[in-house]
Amino acid sequence: MPSDLHMHTTFSDGRLSPENIVAAAKKAGLSYIAITDHDTVDGILHLYEEGLYPAKGIKIIPGIEFSAHDIGHEIHILGYNIDIFSSALQEKLDEVVEARWTRFSQMVEKLHDLGYPLTEAEVLKLAGESKSISRSHIARALVARGYFSTVGDVFHALLYKNGPAYVSHYRLSVEEIVALIKKTGGLSVLAHPMLVGNDALVEKVICSGIDGLEVFYPQHDKEVTLKYQEMAQKHNLLLSGGSDYHAIATRYPQNLGEFTIEDRFAQEIYSRAK
Ligand code: AMP
Ligand code: MN
Ligand code: MN
Ligand code: MN
Repeated sequence: MPSDLHMHTTFSDGRLSPENIVAAAKKAGLSYIAITDHDTVDGILHLYEEGLYPAKGIKIIPGIEFSAHDIGHEIHILGYNIDIFSSALQEKLDEVVEARWTRFSQMVEKLHDLGYPLTEAEVLKLAGESKSISRSHIARALVARGYFSTVGDVFHALLYKNGPAYVSHYRLSVEEIVALIKKTGGLSVLAHPMLVGNDALVEKVICSGIDGLEVFYPQHDKEVTLKYQEMAQKHNLLLSGGSDYHAIATRYPQNLGEFTIEDRFAQEIYSRAK
């Protein structure tokens, strides 16, 4: 059976609740899944409180996706098997999420100046239960207003890295993220290396103590997958992968189970839990 180690819920910028993600994953016949919301483990804590984690019939790896500070590149680091009850982790996440709040206000202000008079309330309504407010929520609000037809169009015009309405994240270095993941007993995996946009930088990040590489990713074609597979083997890294599922109609994959990895890769990561 297949697995998927990268997905977002309503606790960050995904459109399915954790319960619905788990149900959809079971329906798609997945063996292992990892919930990897941006800067939060609240989705997994929610499942735990509902008695749905650990789950019956599917193995859930507790995960997270961090954004590292970098002037020109998107460097995202996934944490797997992290201790979702760690107070050290929670304290840091509170700071990061708080900073996302300030950043969100600043981006809304920039949009005003650019002639898009969006209100914070409109964005927050779309963000629902997510406390981890992201560019995705802002983009959806602009689509809802009819300024753009897709979220992708908003990113292309306004919200891309260093774009006209962009504001940078809380300053977290790759080293800090790797150390925090390690401290909570987890494994760090460099997400979607192609989207970093510079393979020399990818190798530099790998050398900061990363445990694995997200070799399998929807935007990686055969050639790119092979390239990162070789890079992972060269550095003795775990091979990982996932769909980066958000349940957004205009973003591939639209359904869980459309992009998967072989179980053996997920099994390897799952079995390294403390
Ligand atoms: P943030 O964490 O606030 O910087 O927002 C980043 C999120 O925006 C990513 O996790 C993606 O889900 C989404 N995103 C980034 N670029 C695009 C794009 N070109 N089209 C659609 N969504 C995007
Ligand atoms: Mn996202
Ligand atoms: Mn990412
Ligand atoms: Mn992601």
